[in-house]
Amino acid sequence: MDFRDSTEEAAFRDRLRSWLADNAASFKASGDDYWARMGEWHQALYAAGFFGTSWPKEFGGQDLPPVYDVIVDEELARAGAPPRPSLGYLVVGLGHHGSKELQQRFLPGMINGTERWCQGFSEPGAGSDLASLTTTATRDGDNYIINGHKIWTSYSDVADWCLVLARTEKDAAGRLPKHKGISAFIVSMHQDGIEQRPLQMINGVTTEFGQVAFDGAVVPASNMVGEPGDGWRLAMTVVSHEREPSTLGYSARYGKLVREMASRVEGKVPEDLAWAGVQAEMLRLHVRRRLSEQLDGLKHGPEGSLDKLLMTWVEQSVGHAALAVTGTSDPELLSAYLYSRAQSVMGGTSQIQKNIIASRILGLGV
Ligand SMILES: Cc1cc2nc3c(=O)[nH]c(=O)nc-3n(C[C@H](O)[C@H](O)[C@H](O)COP(=O)(O)OP(=O)(O)OC[C@H]3O[C@@H](n4cnc5c(N)ncnc54)[C@H](O)[C@@H]3O)c2cc1C
Repeated sequence: MDFRDSTEEAAFRDRLRSWLADNAASFKASGDDYWARMGEWHQALYAAGFFGTSWPKEFGGQDLPPVYDVIVDEELARAGAPPRPSLGYLVVGLGHHGSKELQQRFLPGMINGTERWCQGFSEPGAGSDLASLTTTATRDGDNYIINGHKIWTSYSDVADWCLVLARTEKDAAGRLPKHKGISAFIVSMHQDGIEQRPLQMINGVTTEFGQVAFDGAVVPASNMVGEPGDGWRLAMTVVSHEREPSTLGYSARYGKLVREMASRVEGKVPEDLAWAGVQAEMLRLHVRRRLSEQLDGLKHGPEGSLDKLLMTWVEQSVGHAALAVTGTSDPELLSAYLYSRAQSVMGGTSQIQKNIIASRILGLGV
């Protein structure tokens, strides 16, 4: 596989570089400000033609091959700009399971950033064991009424819509397998029956995620994604796409951070930093192989768990290297270290990825 840019790709990269030279600086921020400006960043990237490039034209994308997303990720990392807003898994979830009407209504706003989204899956008693969720959706004429409690809901403070998993079938006799009877809904966050409560992360950020309480929230039955009881299939599509760092964006960022840290070191390079450098390069090559497979039309299944695990190891190695280089004296690097701790939890914990690799790839009986 030749990874050099074609003429069209090189022209796209040049356009992006010059756009970033004019625009990236005004979006550089940290902490809560960083999250507060994500919506604006999304819309600016989209308006300039650098977001949603590989998604279908009919929903506002450009139908370009995934290599263009990679170019965007590489150049954003190179310019020190915020990453591409991460919502591909929601686009895929709605694209695979939503009706044409729901796709036409919701995908354009999701892709161009005029409507913000969050994912209401996890609950206080249902994270790794998502099928234990207890939020209910009860039919009431043309609507469903939602009651329950979601947690760790990223961007819930700014979201217009939430993709909610809720139980639509009661199982008084306890005979229904717990992943059955769950349905998925597109719920408006702008209503009285919903309360959003922010959560503070270990790095001090309060605007990244929150708890969402549903107390009689109303959703039209027509906003159900798929058939009643189809929610588990949608959930599996969404989480399997959450698990793939199928872009080079992350590895480009890790590599850049390692190089920046190396430039601060005088004398012997700390072992943690050297190891982070090796791992970041390994991930870069691994993700290139994945991209090459993707361009050949290969669809990934449980291998996404390998990608997620590798990405977590690398991010945490880079976080450890940050501590080795500056201790706790540099707030930005300290924040990179603290944020890396979340990587082994979000999108499915590392233990769960190992269970999937053991059972579904290695065929071990877990
Ligand atoms: C930054 C961040 C953003 C997030 N964003 C969202 C979001 O937008 N929407 C959303 O719905 N959720 C979100 N989450 C929630 C995330 O999906 C859950 O935190 C995750 O699935 C783990 O669930 P839990 O926190 O309940 O931990 P638990 O499932 O309670 O796990 C606790 C510990 O037990 C281990 N464990 C559990 N079961 C097993 C098992 N079978 N085998 C081995 N070990 C096991 C886990 O690995 C973990 O170490 C986010 C989380 C983070 C950190």
